[in-house]
Amino acid sequence: MLTNLQARDVATVLHPYSNLATLPEQGTLILERGQGVFVHDVDGKPYIEGMAGLWCNSLGHGREELVEAAAEQMRRLPFAHLFTGKSHDPAIALAEKLKEIAPMEAAKVFFCSSGSEANDTQMKLVWYVNNALGRPRKKKIISRIKAYHGVTIASASLTGLPNNHIDFDLPLSSVRHAACPHHWRFAHEGESEAEFSARLAAELDAQIEAEGPETVAAFIAEPVMGAGGVIVPPEGYFAAIQPVLEKHEIMLIADEVICGFGRLGEWFGSSVLGMTPDTVSVAKALTSSYVPLGAVIIPDWIDDALKAQSAKIGVFGHGFTYSGHPVAAAVALKTLEIYEREDVFSHVRAIIPQFQRRLKALADHPIVGEARGIGLVGAVELVADKRTKRSFDARRAAAAKAVALAQDEGLIVRAIGEAVSICPPLVISEAEIDELFDRLARALDRAEEWAT
Ligand code: PLP
Repeated sequence: MLTNLQARDVATVLHPYSNLATLPEQGTLILERGQGVFVHDVDGKPYIEGMAGLWCNSLGHGREELVEAAAEQMRRLPFAHLFTGKSHDPAIALAEKLKEIAPMEAAKVFFCSSGSEANDTQMKLVWYVNNALGRPRKKKIISRIKAYHGVTIASASLTGLPNNHIDFDLPLSSVRHAACPHHWRFAHEGESEAEFSARLAAELDAQIEAEGPETVAAFIAEPVMGAGGVIVPPEGYFAAIQPVLEKHEIMLIADEVICGFGRLGEWFGSSVLGMTPDTVSVAKALTSSYVPLGAVIIPDWIDDALKAQSAKIGVFGHGFTYSGHPVAAAVALKTLEIYEREDVFSHVRAIIPQFQRRLKALADHPIVGEARGIGLVGAVELVADKRTKRSFDARRAAAAKAVALAQDEGLIVRAIGEAVSICPPLVISEAEIDELFDRLARALDRAEEWAT
């Protein structure tokens, strides 16, 4: 039986990432407020936000400084843009800061409002720049199966998940998907992680040769695949992949939308996983998600090519009304200041061992096939048979059931296929990590009872 608010919700809101056929019966969890790593629903029940919202609310709820930064900017200059020779101080200061911390030699920063817009921008820049460089055939972009890069037309094409393509008439014809680097699921019998990485690199090389290297422009990768199920690359993966890209003059785009800003204990996941990107997409924890903001960070050679295009054809015809929105930029600057002032990433590095120990201990659970993770992000993959790694019948939606039981236990986590993912705010304490995993373990016990 739905409450009045739930009934109004399902009658009017078209919910993203939901089963639109069953949602009207199930109803929705309606949240009202949050403090720290906790959120409270409209009945006052508290939950540990074990997903930091959508992998984004890094500093938790109730950060007055961020509220103040937004309010102060709204009072002073609530809107200004960067089009046609205009600018404003928050965007300038934020671009300078992002340049300084970028995981590569950065020249400029392009602002947008989301990860999807950042990756769409990446794809447009790849095309535009290759035209500028006189390589009009070099346009294909290789992503990976199970990658998540967003939902706009280009970024949904880059995403490597069936639900983002089926009946949306995607992916675009210039996108290809390489193999998913999930060792536990896809390695051959007895194949080590390093051997698996070497094989994937050889397969990528063969794929590029088959496409024609002169037609492949870029490879895009999250340091750790997030919304595809938290897939940590196998040992030596990027070290094996990057020489293949270099050989064929294919640029590497790092999608740091989840990994950026401390998720793996450093500013960027690229530096933790040995990625040397040409360009970077960021969003989410850039503002601790208090307001929407995304960005693309580019190097000199792309900036030069863009300038050359303008010299030839005039205006650089790309930009959003909210590119570099002053309120979002002010909140981002304050967020980055807090990361540094409170040494948040040292805190993350200090709690990672405990988080990973509690996570990996779940591998012993009877319905968990793999417990995987790195930094402050992880997932448990549910299986019907641990020995053969056989999944539950998809129609039973075992992970969704476990997530519903976790919710009942006062924990928000997320089902991705057969995996249950966990990605708490960076500021979570040791006691809260223990409480999170105690609740998750109880939910898994109840899911096991339900399943057998
Ligand atoms: N890239 C990655 C790695 C993401 O995880 C996401 C969202 O989860 C996106 C891009 C898309 O970001 P947005 O939902 O802000 O468009």
